[in-house]
Amino acid sequence: MNEQQEWLRRGVLDLSIMLRGLDAELNDALDAVKETLKDRTQVDVETFRQALEYTDNRFDQIERVAEDSIGQLQQLYQALVELNSSAASRALHDSIQQPSAYLFDQLRLLDDALRTLPGSLPDDDDTTLIRLRQRLCSRFITLLRTLAILGDDDGSLRSLAKQLEPIPDWTTLDSLAAETIILIQKRLDKEKGQFEYYLNKLNEQLRQINELILKDQNSVAELNELNQALDRNVNEQLEKARQELGKATSIEQLQHTLDASLETLTEVIVSFKSQTDARMAKMQANQLKLTSQLKTLQENNLSLIKQVALERELSTRDPLTQLPNRQGFDQRLKEEMARSVRYQQPLSIALIDVDFFKRINDEFGHLAGDKVLKILAKEMKSQVRQSDYLARFGGEEFILILPQTDLEQAEQALDKMRVHISQCPFNFQGKPVQITISSGIAQHRDEETSDLVLHRADKAMYQSKEAGRNRTTLAV
Ligand code: GH3
Ligand code: MG
Ligand code: MG
Repeated sequence: MNEQQEWLRRGVLDLSIMLRGLDAELNDALDAVKETLKDRTQVDVETFRQALEYTDNRFDQIERVAEDSIGQLQQLYQALVELNSSAASRALHDSIQQPSAYLFDQLRLLDDALRTLPGSLPDDDDTTLIRLRQRLCSRFITLLRTLAILGDDDGSLRSLAKQLEPIPDWTTLDSLAAETIILIQKRLDKEKGQFEYYLNKLNEQLRQINELILKDQNSVAELNELNQALDRNVNEQLEKARQELGKATSIEQLQHTLDASLETLTEVIVSFKSQTDARMAKMQANQLKLTSQLKTLQENNLSLIKQVALERELSTRDPLTQLPNRQGFDQRLKEEMARSVRYQQPLSIALIDVDFFKRINDEFGHLAGDKVLKILAKEMKSQVRQSDYLARFGGEEFILILPQTDLEQAEQALDKMRVHISQCPFNFQGKPVQITISSGIAQHRDEETSDLVLHRADKAMYQSKEAGRNRTTLAV
């Protein structure tokens, strides 16, 4: 075999490696190879070699891109399959199976409040009991209004709140409390139903996504099969060509054999392309569906996350004043008490109640009352230290934790706040109105429970009321 024959042979062998992909540029490259063989009397071996080399490189490129994208697709599917069964999705399931912690907290609060009711319903001749009733009503109103933020479609929460004004007698209060508990329980049931509905929807979506992934995996498998079939076909053709070439005795014969082989190979490749195109189109359609499914899933999750975040927020923050609520306060007081005992630092607690607040509501309406509470919260907060903790206790009562502050220092702080509030220029319907606060302060004792220290502060606060309001009293 002469040198030229040898080159041609090697060229065809190279083609066996090349002809596995297909694109326009590769076709052009193959045409260029053919072109170098056009002159039947003379073959420019160098041009032929260069054309082959170019074809070879082009093929390498195509193969790399194809391998990369198949690899990426497979990774994507793997990730999606795992999404469906992973710990993360189980955690999501678990977390939404639980009904709202917030409503449970409210039930507990209500339960606490009810336990403070005297066993037998008393006559209203005892002033402490009247106060207890007033206070329960105020806290009740705050509770019902906070609950209404989560939804009060039939207005039942608002209608319950209305019945608390004017302050009802013990019997009515008792039955209103029972009604509220039933309402909260109904709400819990409804919430559970909603979560179940959401879970069903989630499962359905995951099922559809799974189906799409399976379809695509089938398409990938089919593509792989087609690829292998192409490989076999091309190798067969090339083997045939190689045998023919071995037998060839002239350049013309070589030329002819090579032309024929290239033609067959082109046919094989064209049919491969049309088959892969169809599958690629199917996969692309699937991809679009999958993307839209994932988007819906994401949107649903987002709305659920928002709802959970709102409930979490409501469980520690009072929506009207944006101050921490009773839950937040309980938690913080425990921490501060432990810290004060451990480091032997003084800790004071002050209970603050707005004077004659009912009059504001009665004279200017509830909305005006709400506005006053909002402004008061902001003004009181502006008067305390960063390290102090101000919370809304319910109704028009606030509570302040003063770490590293003894009774005397706390008195100065509360008096400064009291004077500041009494000087705030409130104005209703063009009429200036003075608003004042009364407070009671107790310093925590090492062995004392939180209930006890609060009770002492509360008693001191009522002494402020009895002594004429707009004042600060220290607990003994
Ligand atoms: P005192 O000086 O003895 O504290 O008199 P008071 O009128 O402030 O006390 P009382 O406890 O009799 O009345 C408190 C009122 O606060 C009753 C209730 O309607 C009102 N209240 C409780 N929560 C809210 C609320 O969120 N918004 C409004 N506008 N009023 C509320
Ligand atoms: Mg009060
Ligand atoms: Mg008051």
